[in-house]
Amino acid sequence: MTITDTHSHLYSDQFDEDRKEVVQRAIDAGVSRFFIPAIDSDFTQSMLDLEAEFPDNVFLMMGLHPTHVKENVEEELALIKTWIDKRAFYAIGEIGIDLYWDKTFIKEQQYAFRTQIQWAKERKMPINIHCRDAFDEVFEILEEEKSDDLFGIFHCFTGNLEQAKQAVSLNMKLGIGGVVTFKNGKIDKFLAEIPISEIVLETDAPYLAPTPYRGKRNESGYLTNVIDKLVDIYGLSFEEIAAITTQNSKDIFGI
Ligand SMILES: [Zn+2]
Repeated sequence: MTITDTHSHLYSDQFDEDRKEVVQRAIDAGVSRFFIPAIDSDFTQSMLDLEAEFPDNVFLMMGLHPTHVKENVEEELALIKTWIDKRAFYAIGEIGIDLYWDKTFIKEQQYAFRTQIQWAKERKMPINIHCRDAFDEVFEILEEEKSDDLFGIFHCFTGNLEQAKQAVSLNMKLGIGGVVTFKNGKIDKFLAEIPISEIVLETDAPYLAPTPYRGKRNESGYLTNVIDKLVDIYGLSFEEIAAITTQNSKDIFGI
């Protein structure tokens, strides 16, 4: 059985003390594929180090995270362009719009999102979308840019059924993690109406740990708690959920 974590910040300094043990615990639980979203150039070296340490399990993305879009957006985008021209990455991400923390750079966030989408389309690479308090703004750009070459994952999907259907219609799979196990997470109420073929699993570790670890540091091995919840929602076996969502991740990332 192979379980795939399509979104883990395993390079975070929150894992500096015990990264090897965290990875081993995940592998023991069946989670052996980790897709790693970028944030900004400050984290590039630690991502490359992570890949060197776990070359069979770690698959890197490259991109500029919306909460890290600021005055130096052009320099950051230029670095990303250099990297994706130089070597293979499995997706452009995480990219998107976040109006929860700060709206100061909304114009720059929209520009960075659109620019990186266009690079992904040119290279037929998937995107990994971060969207917080910004569904209208994200969908506006996705609708304008939509094409057969635009596809990917709506990471940490927290919208309603209508937004879920819109994301799927735009070639996006829904990234489902700890939130589906939360009492007030809401998405568990309608997820059964979205086919399992449109779902991938993710932790967003070290954030958003599922129940019963809510509030603690998240790690990829906890994906089994997310699968347990999906077993209830979809009426499929644990093994079926693992197999289908891993296949969905392969369809997106090409590996
Ligand atoms: Zn993330």
